[in-house]
Amino acid sequence: MTSAAYLSRGGQKVLLIEKTTECGGLVNSFTRDGFHFDAGVRALINAGIILPMLKELGIELEVVKSPVSLGIENKIIHIQNLDSLNEYRELLTKVYPESVNEIDEVLRSIRKIMKHMEVLYGIENPVFKDLKRDRAFVFRKLLPWLPKFIFTIGKINGMNMPVEEYLRTIVKNPSLRDIISQHFFKNTPAFFAMSYFSLYLDYFYPKGGVGKLSEVLKNKITECEGEIKTETKIIEVIAEKCLVKDQNNITYKYDNLIWAADLKTLYRITETEGLLPKIKTKFEDTKSKMLKNRGGDSVFSLFLEVDEPLESFRKIAHGHFFYTPSKQGLGETHREELNNLLSNFEITEREQILTWLDKFTRLNTYEISIPGLKGPELVPPGKTSIIISFLAEYDLFSKIQKAGWLEEFIPELENRVLSVISDSVYPMLKDKIIARFSFTPLSIEHRVGSSEGAITGWAFQKSMPVINKIQISDRSVLTPVPSIYQAGQWAYSPAGVPMSILTGKLAADRVLKRMKKFRKT
Ligand SMILES: Cc1cc2nc3c(=O)[nH]c(=O)nc-3n(C[C@H](O)[C@H](O)[C@H](O)COP(=O)(O)OP(=O)(O)OC[C@H]3O[C@@H](n4cnc5c(N)ncnc54)[C@H](O)[C@@H]3O)c2cc1C
Repeated sequence: MTSAAYLSRGGQKVLLIEKTTECGGLVNSFTRDGFHFDAGVRALINAGIILPMLKELGIELEVVKSPVSLGIENKIIHIQNLDSLNEYRELLTKVYPESVNEIDEVLRSIRKIMKHMEVLYGIENPVFKDLKRDRAFVFRKLLPWLPKFIFTIGKINGMNMPVEEYLRTIVKNPSLRDIISQHFFKNTPAFFAMSYFSLYLDYFYPKGGVGKLSEVLKNKITECEGEIKTETKIIEVIAEKCLVKDQNNITYKYDNLIWAADLKTLYRITETEGLLPKIKTKFEDTKSKMLKNRGGDSVFSLFLEVDEPLESFRKIAHGHFFYTPSKQGLGETHREELNNLLSNFEITEREQILTWLDKFTRLNTYEISIPGLKGPELVPPGKTSIIISFLAEYDLFSKIQKAGWLEEFIPELENRVLSVISDSVYPMLKDKIIARFSFTPLSIEHRVGSSEGAITGWAFQKSMPVINKIQISDRSVLTPVPSIYQAGQWAYSPAGVPMSILTGKLAADRVLKRMKKFRKT
């Protein structure tokens, strides 16, 4: 959508093709029985990208802060500002009094990284500025910032190891390690994981729901005469002829294609016959790298319509809440124990999986979102909508589906999550649920076509199939075929909403440059 907005504003003839009924993918909201829910990301992080993009496109989006609370067992803190780090220390030392020195070491690391984050996101991303005209920005902000940025890049690259490995070097207590890291994606680079506290301070929420961001971008595209075609799934790319084909065998001719969806799909469905041998070989090499890698972690989300006023929940925590009901930590539950179950799935009894599920739901960390606490108009008077989510392994759901008992597994999981949450932080949930439903990793895969139901692109592995260094991020949008660009969460790692937007803009810039060159020749 970012690419389409910039290109249509730049005077290009743009067709945005979307397979579902509406644009926005994982930035999406919906209403059911008068209750508002966010289907994908629950709140946004500016990261020096989202707000500058909106400003540059002249888009108005009303936003409110989305403050975060953190809780372990019956201790909850509300994060307001930098001073809340002291409260966080107090929380951890109350829960793990035997690990005070290790907690202080973690805090030191967080503070150090926060300083680097201030530099990294300290100015509006230059990609969204007109550097030729905005001299004040160049001289007063960009040039003084560059040396600090280069220094910070060194620090980021120096902390590229997986967060689990990094924490083992400073924390011996395995439960403390888990409590800090079990809600991060597996093997998240330490720098990004340990910046979590900075991110908690940065969350904002569009008035009316996260999906408003997609809505205002869509309006911009149509205002600039870009065309949007929904319920149209691209099933083939014929690179040599510059054609894409949809599910009804209708073809569309392009000068430039920006593929802003799952990259394994792009490489699987692209016909390279007729391309120059050099390009074809490079394409095949890249394809094999892409197909060898996996999508990163997925999530399970439970959506609840609750007959209880917002006030009851407001007294306990903010509308964006990371809550761990047990200080014990998951340990190997979601790693070795789950891997063993999955590797021996054919000989594993259902009961064994359900016993594992008991432990997994009891020890996990939950991201709880209550949209009404960010805008009371989002729920019927006296009622509350709640989204409870946690990282979930795609293969578990996929194997259970193949074994034919997914329909029974989902309520088993929902019941356990509900009993863990109502026995701990929200006892009033017990008899007040009007309706409930959930999305699994399979729902995400089905809806947005994301490999392994991934929500932020590639799994973190030693060898990544896309660019993962910020200083060369401008190359992330290139593919071996000159007229095809890539953007979105699969084009760069690590990714999320800001990086998806940034790559969208970078791809649009490349296309505008290419078209200018064509016009000249
Ligand atoms: C529960 C949850 C929490 C999250 N939390 C955060 C967070 O805190 N911070 C953060 O930065 N990010 C977060 N994310 C991730 C973030 O939402 C995504 O990384 C980002 O929205 C990806 O955007 P995208 O446009 O690259 O891809 P997508 O949102 O996947 O969009 C791709 C679009 O392409 C369409 N499409 C796919 N295949 C085809 C095809 N063949 N033909 C036509 N159309 C097709 C899809 O339908 C979809 O609309 C979260 C996601 C979830 C689900």
